[in-house]
Amino acid sequence: MLIDTHAHLDYPDFHPDRAEVIGRATDAGVTEIISIGTRIDSSTRAVELAENFPNIWATVGIHPCDVDNAPEDAIDHLRQLAQSSRVVAIGEIGLDYHHLPENPADVPANKELQATLFRQQLTLSVELGLNAVIHQRDSWDDTLAVLREFTGRVRGVFHCFGGTLEQAQEVIALGHLVSFTGIVTFKNARQVQATAQDIAIDQFMVETDCPYLAPAPDRGQRCEPAHTRRVAEYIATLRNTSLEEIAGRTTETARNFFRFQRP
Ligand SMILES: [Zn+2]
Ligand SMILES: [Zn+2]
Repeated sequence: MLIDTHAHLDYPDFHPDRAEVIGRATDAGVTEIISIGTRIDSSTRAVELAENFPNIWATVGIHPCDVDNAPEDAIDHLRQLAQSSRVVAIGEIGLDYHHLPENPADVPANKELQATLFRQQLTLSVELGLNAVIHQRDSWDDTLAVLREFTGRVRGVFHCFGGTLEQAQEVIALGHLVSFTGIVTFKNARQVQATAQDIAIDQFMVETDCPYLAPAPDRGQRCEPAHTRRVAEYIATLRNTSLEEIAGRTTETARNFFRFQRP
């Protein structure tokens, strides 16, 4: 039994065959999937999916790359969506300095809006008692600086973690977790492989970030939740342990973090 803790199941990439994709996940032992919202419309669809499939859960949030399109009352929308008992976290939220506006003159305002929405959504997490799914790309110091304002009040998972063991330990010391995608299977991913090999067994989860980041040998193809198994198998090999051990421990960590059955 495995949990894909980060899938974009609502994306149009899955419109033609979503039910088959979910069936293949079950066949591969991926018994639960968390569908991650990135905008208001995507968060709404994630909640709809979670309400229609008993093994799917949802998060709601505005992705840092989507802040320019977010409505003024985004937080009210998210608060409303989070009333569903199928919503298990706020996310994905954070800072992304990799995909900044092309015009350098637009960059400062975009970064400021990213930080504002990140803080507002972390505040919403505190209000609702939900954990957060964190996206950071090329924004390590600023992401940690914002999160430090919330230490002890919100737990986050640094999804698609690609950093060093020292960086992983830095976020773990603040009460957060990390999770690994199919990147861990890529030939040139030595750094994250070393991290996945040595990190404490109870401090990480597994995910696909599908439709992106298909693990080797399907790199570049559409990824789907069934591939979580390959991520877990690869980590098991790195750590010289069994798939069952990785599956059992990461599932336990995910259940504790997302607390599927809310009161
Ligand atoms: Zn992300
Ligand atoms: Zn994502």
